[in-house]
Amino acid sequence: MQELAIFGGTFDPIHWGHLLVAETALHQVSLEKVIWVPSLNPPHKEAALFGHRVEMLQLATKDNPSFTVSLVEGKRSGTSYAISTLIDLSACYPNTHWYWIVGLDTFQTLPGWYRGHELAQMCDWLIAPRQLGGETITQSKLICKQVEQQLKEQSLIIHWQLLNIPLVGVSSSLIRKFCRDRQSIRYLVPETVRSYIINNNFYSNKSE
Ligand code: ATP
Repeated sequence: MQELAIFGGTFDPIHWGHLLVAETALHQVSLEKVIWVPSLNPPHKEAALFGHRVEMLQLATKDNPSFTVSLVEGKRSGTSYAISTLIDLSACYPNTHWYWIVGLDTFQTLPGWYRGHELAQMCDWLIAPRQLGGETITQSKLICKQVEQQLKEQSLIIHWQLLNIPLVGVSSSLIRKFCRDRQSIRYLVPETVRSYIINNNFYSNKSE
């Protein structure tokens, strides 16, 4: 049985924090692949077009043979749910033990996801600690345990582990803010992504 992980997100744009998370997951649980799944343009959130986010993902991941970008969400019409992504990818990659990579902020919302209770048990969770308000790694673990407990109270057993990375304060919103403020984003995103952003004049609009 192969071991694969899904890493979903808006990736608007992809940054070094995402790449460090994916690379750590790859080695921490000996995955064969990390499948990056950019979401469709989220409602009520102005994001760069799906095609542009995909292009930036491809530029950033192309030198790592264990990274693949999936267009599974782009092919769907209407609202896209994580559980549908896992079902669709399971059809493409049969005989797979699945992992799902998430940042701590996203993992906290899992109990409220559409069919989140089902999804919670369909894969193992690889959680990237994330600075939400001065959390330390120990506090990140506590937050994960609270989510586990919340699900346990509904008789759901989940498997999870924290990824062994230092807290990285980079976020896509920070990159977009730096672009708006004409501040350099060198060393926050791969060079190819930085050039793509500059050439397309992304994120320079003053209003988010
Ligand atoms: P935004 O700032 O626009 O909310 P983001 O940086 O959180 O974006 P997403 O594409 O929404 O980027 O993130 C995809 C996944 O990666 C989410 O589960 C998120 O929690 C996680 N993630 C993003 N940046 C980091 C980081 N620096 N450390 C740990 N996890 C991260």
